[in-house]
Amino acid sequence: MQILIVDDDATARKVLAGQLTQLGHETRTVASAHEAICSYRRLGADVIVTDWKMPGTDGLELCRRLRDTRSDASPYPYIILLTAHDGPDHFLRGMEAGADDYLVKPLDIRHLQARLIAADRVTTLHKRLFDASRTDALTGLANRLRLNERLAILREQVETSGQGITLALGDIDFFKRYNDRYGHLEGDLALWRVAEVLRNGVEGVGQAFRYGGEEFCLVIESLPPPATDTLEQIRKNLESAAIAHEASDLGILTLSMGASTLRPGDGKSGDQLLSEADTALYQAKSFGRNQLAPKAFERLSHREQK
Ligand code: GH3
Ligand code: MG
Ligand code: MG
Repeated sequence: MQILIVDDDATARKVLAGQLTQLGHETRTVASAHEAICSYRRLGADVIVTDWKMPGTDGLELCRRLRDTRSDASPYPYIILLTAHDGPDHFLRGMEAGADDYLVKPLDIRHLQARLIAADRVTTLHKRLFDASRTDALTGLANRLRLNERLAILREQVETSGQGITLALGDIDFFKRYNDRYGHLEGDLALWRVAEVLRNGVEGVGQAFRYGGEEFCLVIESLPPPATDTLEQIRKNLESAAIAHEASDLGILTLSMGASTLRPGDGKSGDQLLSEADTALYQAKSFGRNQLAPKAFERLSHREQK
């Protein structure tokens, strides 16, 4: 497991890290609660072993803050509080603050080893639930819940990195007719195939989500024109896949897309981004489907390529 050790005492940190490494765990050490929060936010951790008594923010307050801190890398940190304070009152306070377990110093490593067995069970279960609740069962893409979480993290990232993002909503054209013509099971298979095209199309540059029904969301971690080139390519790839759709205008399954952008300083909310993309998608539909809107993005793309 990945274990983050928090202790203001350099020797204690070093000894514990050595023992846990010997037991086969990956360890990181930090000297304060503040560093612990930063490290957890960035890199996650399966288990956090923290000292209670530290200058500044103590271990108890750290437990409380960790329970409010989001990390993309691990869904639930199992927190073990290490302390010289013995007795049931302290134990209770520690657990109430958010710790999962409590050990009294001086530490016998076998006690911690035993607690880590429970930690492994709990964090494994959390990861499974976390993934299952954020994955669309039909297509295997990330779902709407995951999208909301990603957008919250990306909005912060755009401000710190200075790198904008592009979001697109894609909606399959005439999909009701597809179901009517081929049946719902074939419809499900078509959704899966479209999802494959989207997943492959954004690999390495962004992420694809099932937004709901026959609607998808693509988040690309760049601005137009590169982002719009990717979207255009995905639209063309779906055309090339030539999934037969006899009840549509072109005889194949196609996708309409509407895009919006988030640049540093924009201050747009996730909902605003989605709403702008939705308006653009409506345009793509009304301008004849199987296209990316707004049109300005296409022009920008061609101009910058020259
Ligand atoms: P437009 O080009 O304007 O988007 O027309 P459309 O027919 O695609 O749009 P509409 O909203 O009228 O129909 C969407 C259809 O998508 C209806 C619904 O049955 C189908 N659908 C949504 N989710 C699923 C699914 O999970 N499986 C299958 N097979 N069909 C689905
Ligand atoms: Mg729709
Ligand atoms: Mg549709």
